Amino acid sequence: MTQLVFILLLAASLVFFARTVWLFGRAAAAGVADPRSRVDDLPGRLADVGIYFFGQKKVAEEGPQHRTSKHHLFIFWGFLVITIGTADVVVSGVVPGLSLALLPGAIYQPLYALIDVSNLIVLLVIGWAFIRRTVVKPRLIPMNLDAGLILGAIGALMVTHLLYHAYGIAGEMAAGGRAPGWMPISSLVARGLAPLTPEAAARGHAIGYWLHILVLLSFLNYLPYSKHIHLLGALPNIFARNRSARRMDLPKLDLEDDTQWGVGRFEQFSWKSLLDTYACTECARCTNYCPAYNTGKNLSPMQLVHDIRYEMLDRVELADEIAELDREVARLEQFGAERGDDHPSPDLIDARARREAAQHELDTMPKMTGGRIAEDTLWACTTCGACQEVCPVFIEHPLKILQMRQNLVLEQEKTPGELQRTYRNIERQSNPWGIGNDKRMDWAQDLDVPTIEDHPDPEYILWVGCAGAFDARIIKQTRAMVKVLNAAGVDYAVLGHSEACTGDPARRTGNEMLFQMLAEQNVEALKTANAKKVVTSCPHCLHTLRHDYPQFGGDFEVVHHTQLIDHLYKDGKLKTDKSAVGTITYHDSCYLGRWNREFDAPRAVIEAVGVPNVVEMARSRRHGFCCGAGGGRMFMEEHDGTRVNVDRTDEVIATGAEAVAVACPFCNIMMTDGMKQRNVDDKIAVVDIAELVAQHLPDVPVERLARRKKDV
Ligand code: SF4
Ligand code: SF4
Repeated sequence: MTQLVFILLLAASLVFFARTVWLFGRAAAAGVADPRSRVDDLPGRLADVGIYFFGQKKVAEEGPQHRTSKHHLFIFWGFLVITIGTADVVVSGVVPGLSLALLPGAIYQPLYALIDVSNLIVLLVIGWAFIRRTVVKPRLIPMNLDAGLILGAIGALMVTHLLYHAYGIAGEMAAGGRAPGWMPISSLVARGLAPLTPEAAARGHAIGYWLHILVLLSFLNYLPYSKHIHLLGALPNIFARNRSARRMDLPKLDLEDDTQWGVGRFEQFSWKSLLDTYACTECARCTNYCPAYNTGKNLSPMQLVHDIRYEMLDRVELADEIAELDREVARLEQFGAERGDDHPSPDLIDARARREAAQHELDTMPKMTGGRIAEDTLWACTTCGACQEVCPVFIEHPLKILQMRQNLVLEQEKTPGELQRTYRNIERQSNPWGIGNDKRMDWAQDLDVPTIEDHPDPEYILWVGCAGAFDARIIKQTRAMVKVLNAAGVDYAVLGHSEACTGDPARRTGNEMLFQMLAEQNVEALKTANAKKVVTSCPHCLHTLRHDYPQFGGDFEVVHHTQLIDHLYKDGKLKTDKSAVGTITYHDSCYLGRWNREFDAPRAVIEAVGVPNVVEMARSRRHGFCCGAGGGRMFMEEHDGTRVNVDRTDEVIATGAEAVAVACPFCNIMMTDGMKQRNVDDKIAVVDIAELVAQHLPDVPVERLARRKKDV
């Protein structure tokens, strides 16, 4: 009888759980096809699961804005071990007598020792997790009902498992046996319970067993509705993660298909983007690292991921309810017709009313893009990638934001005024500043700069970029770069007036139409120039040329100027006089560092120049803090909170450095502005890596070197 009750309970519970998983899976499957294969390189993907899911590699990482959640590691691994014990309990419930105890003692005893000790460890760590949430109160990790239920359920699973075994051992002791040494914790508890009569021990054993099973099955079915849904979502999400070098994986928008311009509704995301939302562990790392959140903007990447999930589940649930009511209405109508009713029955009237109410609720639900997820949330993002970088389960937040921006701009026509101006400037003058394109080569006046017409088929095309050509501060940087190239005898030429904005500000703000026009134009210009290698000082241009232009047939080897300068030093083609003095710090550009994984070349160049003191900011390399200009924010006002560039400037000031080296025109502009805002512009210099090198070149006239290069 007990066995039958157990089997029925287990079966009902598993069926309910399977139904929930199917419903949730179906919701994610409503997404559009993902443009990238998620099953290629199977061995690599399986290794990822081993390293990042079972090994918890990213959870174990520490950073300047988060400590390792060590307790989470113990809970996770302990839980995995205990799952073996729980499976043993379940199997022996279905088939009495079938248990791990049938295994040879050499296997069974160490295994159960491990399970027994893990039980206690997890219980202690759960206690710590409870204290942490209620007393320590880490930022963005609140104690709420869901957290309380989950911690309580895991704790109850451990306690009941311990009691089940302890009473079992107490029963054996009551019958004259000995407590097994391989179950030290349960044996200890059993000794505390003894002396017991065999009947009392059996009762305790049975109660422990049933409580354990009831908690287990309740936990299993609550899980998908709680934050612990990540136990189901994390593994497939890690398996299907983007493993390519193109980390910001924005697909090319089909502009002919006017049924989908960006993502306005949840089902317009790819299934992988929707799967992301089930994987979130609510660790809050993404939000803790987000420059927008940290400076008071209405953007929490963690909340954004949750909002997409709520949007999806709310709509799917309502759609299911409507479908169910449709069936009920049809059934009642047929029933009435068969009976020959002249009037609808009260049940039919009620069903129709409920169907109408559900439809009304669905129709009046705020839209996702620009509704549940507010416009200012989407515009606050600098696309710095810090969120994606730290996420332990590889959720891609910026991709979602960019796709929703596309919808705001292209479909809803909700473009902020500053961006409308920027787009107009690009359309009319091929640059966001709106300066006449006929002035694109003015920066090169009095310099010996070969254009593609003067010097066809060079080794490198020097991609100047709009900031490099039109912004007064960045023109100095471009001129310095030319000085360095000429000094090292690099074979290069510029496109001159046939270069146009790469389209980065358009693509990163959702104006895919404008971007595609620019991409096609530039790819054509580069192909006409027979370009094979491109060097640029702008990481935004670099990213677009390297990762976006292949979608338009533009496959070029694109390097950043710091990478080329580093090679020139290493090849002995560049020599500086090593007379540098002072202390310098380096500010990582998000688009060079996080998105293109170049952290070392700029630092190597600083070292080659010979600056004696180099200090790192606390937030550097992978965890570098944005300057605030990425994602088109360069051309937008910051209306809320404090300024991102000022936050970063304060960090520079805190290092005590006399200069901050940058490797990006936007960073240069933002940091220069930050120094002015903090009134330290006369004390701390902002210097591009190329400028730093140029300042330390032997004093040889640039023109002479350039002529020499040409002579060669
Ligand atoms: S990309 Fe940067 S700014 Fe945007 S949500 Fe992520 S951390 Fe925040
Ligand atoms: S999205 Fe990733 S980093 Fe952010 S809370 Fe979820 S799991 Fe943590």
